[in-house]
Amino acid sequence: MKITGISLYGLELPLETPQVLSRGRVFDRFHSTFVRIDTDEGISGWGEVCPWGSSYLPAFPGGVRTALMEMAPQLIGLDPTRPDVIVRFMDRILAGHIYAKAAVDFAIYDILGKATGRPIYELLGGKEENAVPRLASVHLGSFDEMNSEIERKRTAGFRNFSVKMGQGIESDIETIRAVMENRKSGELFIFDSNGGWSPHEATRVMNAVSNLDTTFEQPCLTYEECLDVRTRTRQPISLDECMVELKDFVRALSDRGCELVSIKLARVGGLTKARAIRDLCLSYDINLFMMCMAGTVVNDTVAAHFAQTIPANRFCGAWSCQDYITVDPAPQLGARTKQGKMPPPDLPGLGVEPDLELLGRPIAVYS
Ligand code: MG
Repeated sequence: MKITGISLYGLELPLETPQVLSRGRVFDRFHSTFVRIDTDEGISGWGEVCPWGSSYLPAFPGGVRTALMEMAPQLIGLDPTRPDVIVRFMDRILAGHIYAKAAVDFAIYDILGKATGRPIYELLGGKEENAVPRLASVHLGSFDEMNSEIERKRTAGFRNFSVKMGQGIESDIETIRAVMENRKSGELFIFDSNGGWSPHEATRVMNAVSNLDTTFEQPCLTYEECLDVRTRTRQPISLDECMVELKDFVRALSDRGCELVSIKLARVGGLTKARAIRDLCLSYDINLFMMCMAGTVVNDTVAAHFAQTIPANRFCGAWSCQDYITVDPAPQLGARTKQGKMPPPDLPGLGVEPDLELLGRPIAVYS
């Protein structure tokens, strides 16, 4: 099989309500990019990459599109049934920008699944007995707003919560105490500052609640700062934004730098690279959160396939973006949240395609 064409589409995703993260970051819309890869056997595959705006990670919407335009002409003629070979090829022709390459990697797995009649989760090692629990994020707001968001998600069947931090340490400490006081049996709460605390702030907050069964995610911006905080605190830590390449995970595991990690499929460069990271983490009995990054149901479905391959006792939940955006390019299709779970479709490949009418005209076409 050979790649004969690549089309790029852009879609703006306004958010239902603006989302607020630490360090004063406010997001009211995302900009997603879709890739369709066509082949000489009439099979097409879809991928999507949607950064969380431009200030969350070193990844931004314009970077996705420019990197894909740089690579697309060089991918024509390659065999799309060999994901590892294509991923190495992309790393050879363009240094870095692995978040953009994830769109191609996702589309390749869609093609491979359609060609072999198997869902993507089977191509990644097989389905685990894991109901694909969702992770609910609770963004910054007044305590009443955050509490009613937790209550809403609890009623909808969610059991795993990522509560955002970063409104000043006294307010953060009060929020943690109040949330933990209302915790119900079987619920998991992580307190995620998204790198918003200084080492001093993180140490003070974590030590103030050290009597509670709390887990913290990415307390400080850099890996070194998180590791430093770890020497003066005792709670479990999940690492997220600072973990990009396999070697970052190798280092964190050999330093005993975390008990959990959050794998964002686009941040780490796609399914091929995420698969190796998953296996490394599982061999160290590290618990996993995961998600794509942001995006539509197309991205959520990729995340659901990957989540389906993680053993239930190591899996802490998949975040999904579909609840936050006001645009749906594949109505009723793909992985949808029901009762706090998001199983992938049992269809060949990804099992969802965007509606071309809703995507509009492509922004670039290569053949
Ligand atoms: Mg996080």
